[in-house]
Amino acid sequence: MREPTSSKLRSVGTTIFTEMTALARRTGAVNLGQGFPDSDGPPAVLAAAQSAIAGGLNQYPPLDGLPELREAIAKTRLDHYGQQFGDIMVTAGATEAIAAVLIALCEPGDEVVVFEPYYDSYLANLAMAGAVRRPVQLRSEGSRFTFDPAELRAAITPKARLLLLNSPHNPTGKVFTREELDLIAQLCQEHDLIAVTDEVYEHLIYDGKQHIPLATLPGMAERTLTISSAGKTFSVTGWKVGWVCGPSPLVAAARKAKQFLTFAGGTPFHAAIAVGLTQEMGWVTRLRDDLQERRDRLRDGLETLGASVYPCEGTYFLQIDARSLGYADGIDLCQDLAVKGGVVAIPAQVFFDDTETGRRFVRFAFCKSDGVLNEGISRLSSFRSR
Ligand SMILES: *Cc1c(COP(=O)(O)O)cnc(C)c1O
Repeated sequence: MREPTSSKLRSVGTTIFTEMTALARRTGAVNLGQGFPDSDGPPAVLAAAQSAIAGGLNQYPPLDGLPELREAIAKTRLDHYGQQFGDIMVTAGATEAIAAVLIALCEPGDEVVVFEPYYDSYLANLAMAGAVRRPVQLRSEGSRFTFDPAELRAAITPKARLLLLNSPHNPTGKVFTREELDLIAQLCQEHDLIAVTDEVYEHLIYDGKQHIPLATLPGMAERTLTISSAGKTFSVTGWKVGWVCGPSPLVAAARKAKQFLTFAGGTPFHAAIAVGLTQEMGWVTRLRDDLQERRDRLRDGLETLGASVYPCEGTYFLQIDARSLGYADGIDLCQDLAVKGGVVAIPAQVFFDDTETGRRFVRFAFCKSDGVLNEGISRLSSFRSR
């Protein structure tokens, strides 16, 4: 039989999260790999989903999502960031929003500028769209990750169509600054690029830092699609509710793809997330404060082990340099950590095109319960003594 996978998807492997979560199950290791929270979202939101099901909200929602959720999203964006949108479309998680946007907006051969390392679904979605990625590397400099403006300029060729920005950034924990966003906005306008922003960690930013949506910068609202996820904001990743907001013509294009990806789904969860956005943002602030403390606890544990830990301004991930623990390759460290140390982490090179540079990075998630996090830290401390 000929190779069943089409040439479009041949470069796409099994997602690393499936692999590492299976390794955690097999070895009984503590899973600090995949970034899903151990405790569920606000009780009022969980109850709202149950009563929506009991109350009969079990058939297809409208293609764009339940009106009450779309209204709650509009109000939240206005309250938090002063944003107003031509259109808002609810999706099956941020993942579907990103897929729909890339499939709908890219011609085969169009180039998409994306900061590396990048979330692994981007690579697969760009492949599905037939688009070509143009990575610009985020490098650790002093106390933060940043990029070289000349490298960004050079990545934008006449074939560039779109710039894909993730801030707060997974896996580096970087939050893009106003200055960096100003440059990105300027280049998008100069080269007539559409910006797509993945803001799924917009509320999980630490140390008093602020999230700045790229679409709020002058000249950007009309050329930006803004993507969020209720899964990350309310710790309900299994519900897969996300949304994309932007000017009507851009959302209309994404809708064409979305209607034949899933059409629509998750009706009772739309109702519940509407409750979350209108009543439970205080819960989200407490989640953020709690995560900041967990970040510090994990960082202390990793530093005690002798690891050099990169800064984390947002998201729920910390990265270390595998070389600081005597490993040239993060895959070898993750293998030893799982089998000998009883802790699963993610070799972050899977988020790189430039795996040579990516080899040193290992990512840990700290969105875990006290029991899991403390057990993980205690196992890490005995890993050193082997
Ligand atoms: C989790 C995550 C997503 C996917 O969000 P869902 O709502 O679960 O589909 C997208 N981008 C980044 C950077 C993520 O970490």
